[in-house]
Amino acid sequence: MSHFSYRDGVLHAENLPLNALAKQFGSPLYVYSKAALTANFSAYADACKKAGRTENGDNGGALICYSVKSNSNLAVLNVLGKLGSGFDIVSGGELLRVIAAGGDPRKVIFSGVGKGRDEMRLALQHDILCFNVESIPEVHRLNEVAGEAGKRARISLRVNPNVDAKTHPYISTGLKENKFGVAYEDALACYRDAAALPNIEVVGIDCHIGSQLLDDAPLLEALDKVIELIDQLESEGIAIHHLDIGGGIGITYDDEQPVPVGDYLGRLFARVEAWRKEKYAGRAIKVMFEPGRSIVGNAGVLLTEVQYLKHGETKNFAVVDAAMNDLMRPALYEAWHGVQVVQQRQDAARTYDVVGPVCESGDWLAHSRELAIEPGDLLALMSAGAYGMTMASNYNTRGRAAEVLVDGDKAHLIRKRENPADLFALESIAG
Ligand SMILES: *Cc1c(COP(=O)(O)O)cnc(C)c1O
Repeated sequence: MSHFSYRDGVLHAENLPLNALAKQFGSPLYVYSKAALTANFSAYADACKKAGRTENGDNGGALICYSVKSNSNLAVLNVLGKLGSGFDIVSGGELLRVIAAGGDPRKVIFSGVGKGRDEMRLALQHDILCFNVESIPEVHRLNEVAGEAGKRARISLRVNPNVDAKTHPYISTGLKENKFGVAYEDALACYRDAAALPNIEVVGIDCHIGSQLLDDAPLLEALDKVIELIDQLESEGIAIHHLDIGGGIGITYDDEQPVPVGDYLGRLFARVEAWRKEKYAGRAIKVMFEPGRSIVGNAGVLLTEVQYLKHGETKNFAVVDAAMNDLMRPALYEAWHGVQVVQQRQDAARTYDVVGPVCESGDWLAHSRELAIEPGDLLALMSAGAYGMTMASNYNTRGRAAEVLVDGDKAHLIRKRENPADLFALESIAG
């Protein structure tokens, strides 16, 4: 069930008409549905439960670590934390957000190829669950920082299983030529090296092969490779307590049909259980996931108001008040977002390119859409909940949009609109 639907010709978020929200909070405006967030998280949680993987079960249970970079608003993190979510972070800033949102740092895993010393110290101070280490120099630095802090850092090595996720090159991360993780062939040597360090405790293994995957076959292929590696590690006396298969399940932007989360997790747990029972019966091996887009992507829209219509000889443009600085995905990866009118009109539709006010030809939000619109009308850019606001910038000295979380018939302002003075408040004139 979609949590964004038309009632009497007006697009609603849950029980609230989007035109009323734009009137109250202004435009452009990100609007999220709490029910959608909850339903998307529950698809993971329910599948774990169905497979007999409760949080601290004897088999090791399961932990869903929401990928904070997909949408890091405190209110979003708070909703997910209350549902029992852990968090996958990629910076010290994201850890501080999780804590500010009431999330549990002991359910935090720290990914990323470039962790700084300060970030490591901060994460150690908060006793996070695990560092997902992406290189040998990183594990040596972490050993040093942990030693100085008088701690042992729990680590997992991000291995690169060299499977093709068959997605956009910018969001494919599991191939050899990629900057992420340790090559599969080098993983054993890296683990031996890490296991010998005094302030490092090897606890897990992880991978993340890409994003917006519609099929789970590459994920299951990656799982098989991870399992193979665990067997090799165990035979050398390096015990693995969790396996983390990353995020990556895609969502429907247009007509894509991603594998349902429950089906994917069902197949994954069946393989994991068969293997665990055969080789490590009685041992707990936790299974972890790092979903982002599939939790929050379809739980949000970006509202924008039509400013001008330009009817040209070869093209019509709808100039709107949102731009590439608000939603970068089209400019960055030629991503496709659905465009829906908030209030339906009976007039004839024309074909428009929906573009923003930013001074770049790459500043477009949608190409060639049939729309019946007039200046002043509102449009909703659909499926904008993931990698929307978190990628927003202040290019052209544009304040970032406000964000609203809808819960039934209540709307909560969860981030105020930035005003121009905020944008240069940290600057000063030289001399
Ligand atoms: C971005 C990212 C994710 C989330 O990916 P989605 O496709 O949004 O599910 C998970 N793990 C890591 C390491 C990431 O960088």
